[in-house]
Amino acid sequence: MKTEDFKYIKATSLEEVFALQAKYGENAQILAGGQSLIPMINLRMTSPATLIDISGLQDLKGITHQRSPGRVAIGALTTHAQILNSKTVTEHVPLLAQAVPHVAHLAIRNSGTIGGSLALADPAAEYPCVALALNAQVVLKRKGGERRVSAEEFFQGLYKTAIEPGEVLTAVEFLEAAQNQRTFFTELARRKGDYALVGVAINLTLQGSVISSARLAFMALEDRPVLAKQAMKSLVGQSFNSTTPRLSANVSDALRKDISPWGDLQVTGETKSHLAGVILGRALFEMAAQNV
Ligand SMILES: Cc1cc2nc3c(=O)[nH]c(=O)nc-3n(C[C@H](O)[C@H](O)[C@H](O)COP(=O)(O)OP(=O)(O)OC[C@H]3O[C@@H](n4cnc5c(N)ncnc54)[C@H](O)[C@@H]3O)c2cc1C
Repeated sequence: MKTEDFKYIKATSLEEVFALQAKYGENAQILAGGQSLIPMINLRMTSPATLIDISGLQDLKGITHQRSPGRVAIGALTTHAQILNSKTVTEHVPLLAQAVPHVAHLAIRNSGTIGGSLALADPAAEYPCVALALNAQVVLKRKGGERRVSAEEFFQGLYKTAIEPGEVLTAVEFLEAAQNQRTFFTELARRKGDYALVGVAINLTLQGSVISSARLAFMALEDRPVLAKQAMKSLVGQSFNSTTPRLSANVSDALRKDISPWGDLQVTGETKSHLAGVILGRALFEMAAQNV
């Protein structure tokens, strides 16, 4: 299918982007890596009159590590491939490093960006799930100002975020992983690189061998990534040494209360609910095995 006609403008600065957004209003859309937006335009799922290409903005590219407080900031235009190959991410944001090999395929990873993925807010995408598990801060800039929004508040529904008209997502910030933190990402997909049927990002803090805090974010279940708050509570105080990949009854019951999965073209909501428990049990088992 051919696209409808649109105006294309390649921006050379963030100030120019703000001016173009003000000029063209809601008929304009930002183009980053184009790996989601271009297929959507081709399929006529969206028809922006103007595309503002931000891919040339150097200030929005790159990964920086700051000490005290330990933090990693990733520019919105950093590609999946750059994240995959980043030693800083591997060392300081291991959960993101564990998730990125599941994002799409090589060709898409060379152009697709973390900012584009977060802004799109696909409920089956990996970065939103990881951002929620780590409660990352999303940096949004507008003409004359900026704000930080926590991942918990950023994802507001199906392809819906806290980004206001006139704002650009410029970066995402993660706290540096602590010594006593353990993370894990896993997902089930029919084929590697496909969008997942279900996925989970796990972020545990340990005191000795006991779990002192837990964040569990699931993807591909509802209209946005979800925190399994009751299951998180049920893990606190438990020993970090799962001896079986089967989830304990209390965590399993808590998880069922936390999630209300939608069915999709591949599986029912009930199957997704079952699979969520299966992958969480396997993940905790694997984490304990890796820790010894
Ligand atoms: C075959 C295929 C398989 C894929 N598989 C996966 C997968 O398994 N997991 C996964 O997570 N993704 C997958 N993707 C999507 C891919 O990761 C995209 O790169 C990503 O979702 C969007 O990033 P982008 O830079 O290409 O954004 P674009 O496509 O350019 O933009 C996406 C949306 O975000 C907005 N936007 C982009 N950047 C900003 C910004 N800085 N500020 C404000 N708004 C912005 C755009 O206006 C648009 O609405 C797949 C894509 C394809 C084609």
